[in-house]
Amino acid sequence: MYTPPLARLIEQLQKLPGVGPKTAQRLALHILKRPEDDVQALAQALINAKKQVGFCRICFHLSAEPVCSICGDRNRDKAIICVVADSRDVIALEKTREYHGAYHVLGGVISPMDGIGPDLLNIQPLIRRASQTEIQETILAISPSIEGETTTLYIAQLLKPFVKVTQIAFGLPMGGDLEYADEVTLARALEGRRELL
Ligand code: ZN
Repeated sequence: MYTPPLARLIEQLQKLPGVGPKTAQRLALHILKRPEDDVQALAQALINAKKQVGFCRICFHLSAEPVCSICGDRNRDKAIICVVADSRDVIALEKTREYHGAYHVLGGVISPMDGIGPDLLNIQPLIRRASQTEIQETILAISPSIEGETTTLYIAQLLKPFVKVTQIAFGLPMGGDLEYADEVTLARALEGRRELL
């Protein structure tokens, strides 16, 4: 149907989340219409992002530097750590502008069905961080799903001996994603957090 280089482009685009065959075709044809410079810039941005973006060594948020801009910010309250599943959640919470503490990104949730056990998540580094005396509170802000709840309880039990553990008050339905909550809802959820266990 397509000449081979075009077929390969469509095939690669279709691997992206939310991109079906029709969208992949539309994107590919659009890319071909763009000036060569634009296409170069796109390809280079993909390669550079993949090469340069890693994880903050303190909080595991995506960062091109060894320590991310949030951990490196002296004005943030490092005594409070908000624990989230994914870097997308950090971005969602940052958009509220209501939270001024630190974060810890787990890199997913415990999901035995998908073969994701606690060892595959950044849980041990979290316990190490939380056991430092200057840490006063950990806020668990993991989206409410079966796996999310399991992860929350698992982590809460590990953190409890060291630090105050609170959970964000979602007011979201089960399966509701942090990422899709609007900023006001998220800010309220943070403010209404309650002590866990
Ligand atoms: Zn960081």
